[in-house]
Amino acid sequence: MQLKDRPPHLILFGPPGAGKSTQAALLVNRWPMVAISTGKRLREEIAANTELGRQVRDVLANGRLVPDELMIATLRTWLEDIPPDKGFLLDGFPRTVDQARALNKMLEELKRPLTAIIKLNLTVSEAVYRLGGRRICYGDGAEEIIHINDEDAVKRCLDRGGLLVQRPDDLPNVIVRRLSVYEEETEPLIEFYRSSGIVHTIDASGSPEEVANRIIEAVEGDQ
Ligand code: AMP
Repeated sequence: MQLKDRPPHLILFGPPGAGKSTQAALLVNRWPMVAISTGKRLREEIAANTELGRQVRDVLANGRLVPDELMIATLRTWLEDIPPDKGFLLDGFPRTVDQARALNKMLEELKRPLTAIIKLNLTVSEAVYRLGGRRICYGDGAEEIIHINDEDAVKRCLDRGGLLVQRPDDLPNVIVRRLSVYEEETEPLIEFYRSSGIVHTIDASGSPEEVANRIIEAVEGDQ
């Protein structure tokens, strides 16, 4: 059966640097679904100064997790907003085993069973290369994220009078800490889902298109 006849319900896990948002952007073109990045949505709520935004602003600023009860209730409203002919791709949820349990219950009630869980794998050295080389080009117009070894991109930035800035959390020692936090957070979740038989571990090295193709093959091969 083709996934286009049945909107997929996916969860995407991956360490910093694995290219989760890039993959989400590519995969929504492949299958009819809404990408929900919980971190991105919460930041939008904060920027729009909504009631939810005001509730979570300090939590995000301090790098802590939004309390499960609030996060689960919020996710439910986002899922309920998805039209029936579309599926979803969750990025950033679940973050705890309690959230995973609540999600199972919610999806049963909404009659939206999970199709696949995608776990992107990247070696520590590749993550350090990607994130450690990441720079933001600030100048006139939109900011651009580039890699310091991409000479054309660096030249393009400097030619337009741009400034290359490294995010403080992209420094190598911070990257290694972010990776270990990710592992600690994600391992119990993968264990939780392992028995469902729908976990796919995908190599996140190579170009975005190569990675997307690996995901598509794994998910469609399973249907
Ligand atoms: P992210 O962009 O995924 O790193 O998320 C940014 C921030 O949003 C996190 O540090 C948390 O404060 C909050 N957040 C995102 N997803 C969740 C979640 N599933 N549970 C609790 N907090 C979350």
